[in-house]
Amino acid sequence: MALTQWQSAYCYANNKYLELYMKQGSSKQQREKVIKEWYRQTLKNDIPALITKWQTIIDVVVADWGVKFMRTKWGTCNIQAKRIWLNLELAKKPRHCLEYVIVHEMVHLLERHHNERHTWISLCRNGNCIKMN
Ligand SMILES: [Zn+2]
Repeated sequence: MALTQWQSAYCYANNKYLELYMKQGSSKQQREKVIKEWYRQTLKNDIPALITKWQTIIDVVVADWGVKFMRTKWGTCNIQAKRIWLNLELAKKPRHCLEYVIVHEMVHLLERHHNERHTWISLCRNGNCIKMN
């Protein structure tokens, strides 16, 4: 549950609904903007703790991260910059999906390809961390 306010608009979420309170006469565009901002904010609240948790388990450092809308990917990363990007649409999915994508992209910082090594490092998720160095 979260209650957030931007410029006299309120967005409130429970397990079933996202409720939006705005000034009368708001345009569809304005409503969409507030909802998008709410999605971005909920992700930005949740991501740092997940990255911190998995940095220790996977033994990799994320130098920077961001949220953006992507049409074809849940996540992407820049290996040189040690930066991961997460799709804004993840805000609409259960939190374990967000965690899965974060882990997947963090593992790419150690292994670029979707190969056996990537799979093995990802198995850290089960708490049986296998360090590959
Ligand atoms: Zn991948």
